[in-house]
This record gives sequence, C-alpha cells and structure tokens, in this order.
Amino acid sequence: MSAIQDQLRGKLVVSCQAFPGDPLDDLDALRRIVRAVVGAGAQALRLNSAEQIRLVRQDTDVPIIGIQKRYADGVLRITPDFAAAQELAAAGASVIALDCTNRSFAFGEPWRQLIQRIHSELKLPVMADTATFDEARAAGEAGADFVGTTLNGYTEETRNNHGFSWPLLSRLVNELKTPVIAEGHLATPAEVKRALGEGAFCVVVGSAITRPGVITSSFLSALSPAHADAHVIGADLGGTSIKAGLVDPQGQVTCSAQVPTEAPRGRGAIASNLASAIEKVRAQAAQAGITPSALGIASAGAIDVNDGSVFAATDNLPGWAGFDLRGFAAERFHLPTRVLNDAHAAVLAELHYGHGRGLTDFVALTIGTGIGGGVVCNSRLLRGNHGFAGSIGHHVLRVGGRACNCGRLGCMEAYVSTAALVREYKSRVGADVPALADDALAFEIGRLAQAGDPAAVAAYQILVGYLSEGVANLFNLFDPQAVLISGGLVQGYPSLVAEVEKRVTASLHFGQKRAPRIQLAAGGYFAGVQGAGAFALS
Ligand SMILES: [Zn+2]
Repeated sequence: MSAIQDQLRGKLVVSCQAFPGDPLDDLDALRRIVRAVVGAGAQALRLNSAEQIRLVRQDTDVPIIGIQKRYADGVLRITPDFAAAQELAAAGASVIALDCTNRSFAFGEPWRQLIQRIHSELKLPVMADTATFDEARAAGEAGADFVGTTLNGYTEETRNNHGFSWPLLSRLVNELKTPVIAEGHLATPAEVKRALGEGAFCVVVGSAITRPGVITSSFLSALSPAHADAHVIGADLGGTSIKAGLVDPQGQVTCSAQVPTEAPRGRGAIASNLASAIEKVRAQAAQAGITPSALGIASAGAIDVNDGSVFAATDNLPGWAGFDLRGFAAERFHLPTRVLNDAHAAVLAELHYGHGRGLTDFVALTIGTGIGGGVVCNSRLLRGNHGFAGSIGHHVLRVGGRACNCGRLGCMEAYVSTAALVREYKSRVGADVPALADDALAFEIGRLAQAGDPAAVAAYQILVGYLSEGVANLFNLFDPQAVLISGGLVQGYPSLVAEVEKRVTASLHFGQKRAPRIQLAAGGYFAGVQGAGAFALS
C-alpha cells in the first residue's frame, strides 16, 4: 500500500474517458490520448474498463486507478461487483475505485464486502468514490485506502453542487486519516494547485484535459453570448430593507421588489423576508415569460468565500452570523446560487455596469454612515478568505485615535462618515444646529458649504483631509487606475472629488507623474442587486 501511496502523493492523475456517443469513444483514440498525456508527464491515470487498461499497459507503467462503469435501469454504478474488480486487476490496474456512496443499487455487491475482497484476494488498494463527508468517513472506516470527492454533485443529496466542493475537501482532509483524492469539476491548473495546497493527497483531472468537446464549450461560454439572453435574480439584503430584482444581460433591473428586513425579529424572519422578496421577483418574471438562470445574493456582513455562509455580522442583523445563506436559498429556489458581501456587490456593479467598465484595476468607496468598498485587481474583485478584503474603512489613519465600531482606534471610518462630518460641524457652531437626522444634516452642511458658510466649509475640509490620506494609502497599496467614490457626502459637496485628487497628487511619491485619478462612481439605487446578479453569472 505504501508503495502506491508514494507514487501518487502530490501527483496529477489524468482521467481519460470518453462518453458514449463522443467521437473519441473508441479504444484506439483513447489509447492515443493516453500516450499524449503520459508523454507530457502525467504521473498517473484513471481509466475505465479492463480493455482500455490492458491496451494502455502496453505503453506505460504509470499507476492506473481502474474503474468499470456499469449502467443498469438508467443508473450508473462504478465497479459494481468483484468480477469487475478482478478483470481490472488482471488488466493491470494499480488501484481499484468503486462507488461507496450510501445509495442503494438493485445490482452488484455491497461495497464494504468489495473492499474486503479486493484487499484479501486481489491484494490491491481501493479508492472510495464518494459524494459526502459521511460517506467518505464510512468508507475510510471500512478500510478504503483513499477516499475521493468524485461523486459530489452526482447524487440526489448533492445535486445542487455544480462545482468542486472546497468545504468538503477541507473537512475531509482535516477530520479523516484516510488520504483524500480531489476529483470532480476541477478544471484549471490553479484549482489543482489549490487542492494540493489545501491537503488533497493527489488530484484527478479529466474532461478539462482529455475531452476537446468539453474544452471547446468552456471557451465558447466564456465568450459571453451564453449569457446574452440570461436573466438572473439579484437580491440585496441590508439592515432595514431587502431589495430584489430581475437583472438583464445589460445590468438593467426590470422586475423589482422591496420588503422590510425586520432584522430585530432575528434570523428566521430575515431569511423568510429575503425569500419573499425573491419570490415576488420570480413571479413577476414568470408573468413576463422569463425564467431566471441563477440567483445572486448580496448580504450585509462578511460572507465565507468557500461556502456562501455568513461568517460574521453585526448586531444590526441579530442571529445572522453562522447562517448557511447559500444553502438556504439554493434549496428554496433550486437555482445555481452565489452569495457575497453587499459592499462587494456594489463594486461588481461598478465593474460590470458602472464607471469601472473599461478599467482593470480600481478601488471603489461608498461613504455614508460607514465606508463600504472593495478592490478590483486584474478585473477581479478581491474577496479574501472570509470576505473581509477591501474593508477600507477599517485601516487606521491615526494610531490611538477615535474609537471605531470595529473595536480599534483611529480607523478611517471614524473620521470619514456622515457622523464625522456632523461632529466637526457641531464642534464649530455649538448648539445652533437644525434638529435633523445625521443624513439630512450632512446634506444641509453640504448646501451651506457650497454657499460659503465658514463652519460648513471647515467641517468639509477636515473630512477632505482624512479622506485624502486614506485614498493616498490606497494608491500606494494597489496602484490602481482610479479610485471611484460614491455616497451622499460626495453628492452633497460636488467639489470634494477634485479637492481630494489635488491633495492626493501632492502627497504621493511621484504624485505629479502618477497623476492619481479620482472620480465619482455610478452608484445607483439597485447597485447591490445588479452586483449580486453579475456575481451569479460569474
Ligand atoms: Zn474600524
């Protein structure tokens, strides 16, 4: 056993299979594909049928994971009985893989018994093809030498998984002693590297290497006409209201709905209101004869990048942290579902439909009660591990400065926000302030500043000073093509952007030469909905 482990550890296993009806579905074509991949350095193979293994064994002695697919009553089962395993072994398989899911089959033998017989009679190791953590654990306990993620997405229980399940891999490698083989939906070198980095024992890649038809389709769909007529539902969940809408391929929001979040009533109410907003949009879409192809949800709070659950949320959304948001929505609406943070969604809206179109590298900021934002590098939004990337409001401008909601002192958000502007203004005029909420008062201060009121101008100047320091930091960290700014404070004081740009140019190293570009973002009432929609399509 350990010899084969040494041969497979950290390796790329190429699965060479043709599907019935595929023009390459003949033994000679497959044999030549195998020669090509082994010639290129593939270190192991996964092959279907004793016939194919026997042919390939004439050309190479690399390890082969052998399987025998059998269909009966429209059901596929991998290596259903001992006779099949015996033939694979006789043909030269180094490992026998078999279906170890908890599905019950009308044909073949129980997999526990197969593992025993393959060990004792064929003296070969077994790879358990499984779909879930529990199945993999059971297979490991029953003596399987490797457990694979092969069947995740292919069983009734996992049919909503349309891509490789990183959370499953992570749990398997962390909790099981049995070596884990990553297999299924892995399509790029970066994914293979990531799987090994996350602890997979070895990685199996199939269609992405060996099936030209599948590869061609993936290119064509990336050329976008696939989305040319795709409508998706986007939802934007905030502390007070939930917006949802049907987003067309140009980013226009056609049908829409808005409901109160009712956050104080807790997780159950929030989730149910979200579902009702989405349901309303779907009903309107159905009346218009449109079937949405995916669902994107933008939510306040940090969203776990791996599984779409809520990693953390503030007290504005009690009980929301820990909620399996993606799982809930996917099960409820039976649509491919993706979830991201609401500030990140606004950045994606900017990238796809707003002033970020035509840019590949930019930082976007929305200034309001706090600072939302995000970073786009190389046309991709940086999300980070737990969804915290681009938390620009929480970089410290003054060590030991004002207390921030996040618990630190001196964050940018403590100096650049509606509350900060109001505070500066009040400190200058004392009690002589209109009785207004912060938002409305900030708007009034902007109006006064434009009219030349000294206290209002001074308050804005303080804010411009801090904002310029923060934005200069962004240019130093990311060297973006532009920083896009939006929010009520900017609208209330139109010269703010030009003033910040001037200060940033003056303070940056080589500032004149770099000519930092700062401009208004497109923003918009439905930016979160549009961004969630764009994310659902990505
Ligand atoms: Zn902070």
